[in-house]
Amino acid sequence: MTDTLIITEIYASIQGESSYAGLPCTFVRLTGCPLRCRWCDTAYGFYGGTEMSLEAICSKASDLGVKLVELTGGEPLAQKQCSELARMLTDHGFKVLIETGGSEDVSPLPKTTHIIMDIKCPGSQMADRNHWENLNHLKPTDEIKMVLSHREDFDWAVDIINKHKLSERFNVLLSPAFGLLQPKDLVDWMMAAKLNARLNLQQHKYIWHPRTKGV
Ligand code: SF4
Repeated sequence: MTDTLIITEIYASIQGESSYAGLPCTFVRLTGCPLRCRWCDTAYGFYGGTEMSLEAICSKASDLGVKLVELTGGEPLAQKQCSELARMLTDHGFKVLIETGGSEDVSPLPKTTHIIMDIKCPGSQMADRNHWENLNHLKPTDEIKMVLSHREDFDWAVDIINKHKLSERFNVLLSPAFGLLQPKDLVDWMMAAKLNARLNLQQHKYIWHPRTKGV
């Protein structure tokens, strides 16, 4: 196994999502993804990229001077050295978050990594790719994110939350798919259902133009 990864971009900005939203964060975007979610907003990360050594990635992240770092994609766990990068960044003194689509095994990640894992709803057209075994490897501090396109997704999400007792086991984030579901509609449904979940808006899409890259 090589000690390199294919990287689309590394930059510092404000964390837009999760319980870390609003904090300065360095993003390491790994290239490639085995999924094709209907509403994907990072398709530019599917191909290309630059091969970098793990040391060079840590060095670039250190140069940016932010001690919170997120591994994202694409699907970061589709490249097997991602877990080793998480380990090295932790050793360099970073708090490491990872945003994963939920189709890849999270168990190789070091326990110090804060995992934000999607469960793909039917509206993504990727619900058959959820790797349900991952629920047995998440920590109580980790987060489950569900991106909803319409009311059918919401009803499906409520069933999944109840079936797996997700709200009792993890932090649950519900996101409206940008441009497909109005945040207000989702808030109304959440309140009516008395869900113990957090509304997760992508702050960067409200601060900058929604298609702006590298923020
Ligand atoms: S898992 Fe993420 S990067 Fe991959 S297609 Fe879905 S939204 Fe895009």
